[in-house]
Parts: sequence; structure tokens; C-alpha cells
Amino acid sequence: MSYQNIYNKLMAEINNAYGVCGLMGNLKAESAMRSDNLQDSGNRKLGITDTEYVAQVDSGSRNFVDNIGFGLAQWTSAGRKASLLDFAKKYGTSIADEGMQVDFIIYELNNGYKAVLKKLKNATSVKEASDCVVKKYERPANQGESVLNARAKKGQAIYDEYATKREVIGTMKIYKKGVAFQLSNNFKSTEFDCNGKGCCSETPIHSNLVKVLQQVRDHFGVSVNLNCGYRCPTHNAKVSGASKNSWHMKGYASDIVVKGVHPMRVARFVETLPDFNGRIGVYTWDDKGSGFVHIDVRGTNSRAVYTENNTQYDTVAGFSVSVKQGSKGRLVKVVQRKLKSMGLYNGAIDGKCGKGTTAGIMKFNALHGRLQDTSWGPKCWNEAFPI
Ligand SMILES: [Zn+2]
Ligand SMILES: [Zn+2]
Repeated sequence: MSYQNIYNKLMAEINNAYGVCGLMGNLKAESAMRSDNLQDSGNRKLGITDTEYVAQVDSGSRNFVDNIGFGLAQWTSAGRKASLLDFAKKYGTSIADEGMQVDFIIYELNNGYKAVLKKLKNATSVKEASDCVVKKYERPANQGESVLNARAKKGQAIYDEYATKREVIGTMKIYKKGVAFQLSNNFKSTEFDCNGKGCCSETPIHSNLVKVLQQVRDHFGVSVNLNCGYRCPTHNAKVSGASKNSWHMKGYASDIVVKGVHPMRVARFVETLPDFNGRIGVYTWDDKGSGFVHIDVRGTNSRAVYTENNTQYDTVAGFSVSVKQGSKGRLVKVVQRKLKSMGLYNGAIDGKCGKGTTAGIMKFNALHGRLQDTSWGPKCWNEAFPI
């Protein structure tokens, strides 16, 4: 995700933060701001992942004009998808290229959606801009009050993050071990101190890390405990399972326990923060919420799930990835444990989604009014591990 890039590009054209954020809130609602996102029902219908779809369209082996929503704005109609494909060809980029898609949005606004562009340039609130995008640009089936409000809210959050704050790049500072310095409303420097004894005297802490932890604290409203913040190289070498290049040794990482909140919920929340760039590792081994979440602000995004110990993990695309019959891996174990705790599944926690797990998923969906739905999609994640 590169909210900042999208924001900058749209600002260059629209030159009004209300308009840009009203539009971006809609893009987030449509695609979670992922330019390779194929509408979920399309994934199911075609039986392929987003990555496979993009590869097939790029190689010319799949017809892109298929009335299935795709990309940042979830373009769907034949006319718009055909234009997007032409545009990508002219650009010489993949159909999933983010920058190309933003330019295509600008192209559309200037050709056929001039009234929308005018509104975005002149809107005096995010809501005003967002409502116009819903009704005249995205035109989802449901344009009711709750949809309008939800989209405006997403836009407002982006506005609060990008339009009102100037400092985006954080800073690394070094604090004295054992001397408490108040870093933010709820965090002191000593909470990040190395757990080793007599091994070090200073604690480096990156401001972006404090920022994300404070966001977690504010969101859940309960205490956030650091199992581990900084680890000096001497101590790191003694910690079993610790990477030799651990970001804990650089002051960029912490392992946190949020009181009474399942690690999966914490991870899923951090993932939604527009300016978060780093690794999120979920350590979870039951459905009671035991475990912790590793968060670091290294600057590049990665996600991982650990389900038994501290060294074996699966790299995942995110914490709302769909699970369905045939899926394998640790995210499947998380789902199996959830289903088991609800009495919807009593097979093995083996990370293989077979008939039994699929039956449990169907029961879970049925409980939420989705009859015959056999896959565990973003809605299920949200219901099982709400943020
Ligand atoms: Zn130390
Ligand atoms: Zn860690």
C-alpha cells in the first residue's frame, strides 16, 4: 500500500485535500487500496487468485473485459475495463500497476466525469467529495446513508493522516536505560529497555514504533504490554529463536500483548493503519488469545503467522486472506481453532482445509446469514477477529 504516493499524485491534479481524501476513502472501500484486487466473487467464480488473474491478463491469455470488478476503483463495466486495458498497454505496464491506475482515474475524471472532477476541486468537506464519488463515479448498488457515511469516514481518516500532518518520516532517538522518558501518552522509554542484565546502557527507539503502539493503545483502550522492545546484540544472541539480524537490535521492533485482545485482532488492526510500513508477526497458539504480536517499522511490508513456536511461520499476504477447501497453512489452523472453539468443527488442527473444515466454515457463514457460502473470506475474518 502506498497511500502517500496515491495522495501526492491525486493532489497534483485535484489540488484540494478534501477532494483527494473523499476519492481515496472510496478507493479504500472498493479495493482496500490494492491495485491487483479482483472482486472476491470473481476469484470464486474463476477459481484463481488475484496474482494469477493479473498474470493471465498481462500475458493476454485471459479476457479482461469480463464485468468483474478489478483494481483500485474496482472497475467493472465492459467500457471502463476496456479503456483501462488500453491505458495499461499504452503505458507498457501491468494491468495491476498502481501508478498507471491512478493516472487512469485522473484520465477518467478529465474525460466523462468532469462534473466529479469539478466537485473534487471545490469540495469544502471530505463528506461532500465522498458523496459525489459514490453517486457519480463509483456508483455502487447500495448508495444508502450508511454507505455514504462509511465511505466518508474512511476518507476522513486518510485526511487526518495525510492532509493535516506534515511529518511523515520518523526519527530514531537513543534513551538511557532505566531512566523513564515519556514518549507518548501511554508509553515510556523504559518499557522498551533491553531485558538483559548488565549487557547494555542505552535504548534506541524509533518514533514510528511508538506511534503505532500508541495507535493500538488508543484503538483498543486497554493496556499494551511490551514483552520485548529493544534487544542489544549481547542479549539477542542469548534469546533462543531470535534472528541474528533482528530488528529488535535496531530499536525498530517490539513484541506486544494487548490485554484481553486476541493477537489476530491486534495484527488485523495494525494492518489497516494507512501509514504503517513494516512487519507484523502474529504468534497465536490457541483461541483464548494467548500469544503476542511482533511489530516492527522497518519500512517494507511483510506479514507472518506463527502457530506453534517462535521459529516456524508462514509468510502471508495479509490477515484477511480467504481460506477455502484446498487451502493449506497456518492461517487455516487459526480458522480451525476458531471453528473448534465455537463447536463448529471437531477435526484435527492440521492446517489443511478439507471437507470437515469447509463444513465448519459453512456453518460459521450460516450463523452470519450467508447460506451456502463455502469460503472463509474477509467478512468471516472480521466477524471472528474484529478490529
Ligand atoms: Zn542488553
Ligand atoms: Zn519480535
